[in-house]
Amino acid sequence: MTTAHGDVPTPAFMPVGTQGAVKGVVHRDLEQIGADILLSNTYHLYLRPGDGLIARRGGLHAFIGWSRPILTDSGGYQVFSLAARRTIDEEGARFRSHLDGSAHLLTPERAVDIQAQLGSDIAMVLDECLAHPSEETVVRQSMERTLRWARRARERFLTLYEKRGRESFGDGVIVTNPGQAQFGIVQGGVSPELREESARGTVEVGFEAYAIGGLSVGEPTDVMYSMVERTTPCLPEESPRYLMGAGTPQDLVEAVARGVDLFDCVLPTRNARNGQLFTGEGPINIKNARYAEDDRPPDPACVCYTCRTCSRAYLRHLFQAGEINASTLNTLHNLHFYLDTLRRIRDAIAFGRFESFRLDFHNSLSRRLHDS
Ligand SMILES: [Zn+2]
Repeated sequence: MTTAHGDVPTPAFMPVGTQGAVKGVVHRDLEQIGADILLSNTYHLYLRPGDGLIARRGGLHAFIGWSRPILTDSGGYQVFSLAARRTIDEEGARFRSHLDGSAHLLTPERAVDIQAQLGSDIAMVLDECLAHPSEETVVRQSMERTLRWARRARERFLTLYEKRGRESFGDGVIVTNPGQAQFGIVQGGVSPELREESARGTVEVGFEAYAIGGLSVGEPTDVMYSMVERTTPCLPEESPRYLMGAGTPQDLVEAVARGVDLFDCVLPTRNARNGQLFTGEGPINIKNARYAEDDRPPDPACVCYTCRTCSRAYLRHLFQAGEINASTLNTLHNLHFYLDTLRRIRDAIAFGRFESFRLDFHNSLSRRLHDS
């Protein structure tokens, strides 16, 4: 995948840097473990410190000191999950900030403007996020609204970036990254028909690439896989496909098998801070008393800094003692595990042995499950 800030080998995993930072680690660590692209959250940056402030610093890359690609979400997901007193109508989403209660209106156009000011390499359109399960009629109405919003977002995006050619400012919006791309989002709940309809409609609007949204929200795993399987054939083969918010290491392998190229998920970072470490033989919980005198590294097959220098006993002690370093070391390992899994997937694809990689990967996971 080619972006304004460089190429990203796919399939790729994006660590989540909610507030312009990945919790527990610095950018240097991320570069060292091979993070080629970061995700940042528009909702959080818009509310604090504000997209205007970031634009005046030259955009998000300059502000946070990260020169590799960045993808920003539209802010919609957080409005739906975090904000207080939100109401959705055709115009957009009205909500109150979870920080100070101030009133805001996020429209498809506003989401484009804010991300133009942030200057991410990939901007996402505003879509409506439904809870699972929702009734099919509700899902249809929501999917159709998301399509109407997609048209408005694309129109705004094209206007803004055409204007950029003539003047630096369009309607007071500072475009900090003229090479920004815009991704559309396929919705449709767990209905295969609605998914296909949404995919066709979104492709008709025409974006640089496409994402699959509204999955990994509590539906059974096999349902998620089958929705992905129904959606990817409706998307252009030459554009990357991004599965939003997924998932476990197994989910990533299975989604790649179904044609997905791009992932983001808070699992490796959030679970690291809670003491859960991913390994090739399944996750381990470092809080567990059985690790108190365990001198092995978290994952004997891993070559990350944490596994090269720390024992399970030491990591358990740091966690029990509430040391900040526990979060840092655990996060380093988990992100390394995710990024390394994607690296191995890319190698396997390049050598034409993805199917045997996929089998080995699942076999290795189930071996430990049988052991314990
Ligand atoms: Zn490791």
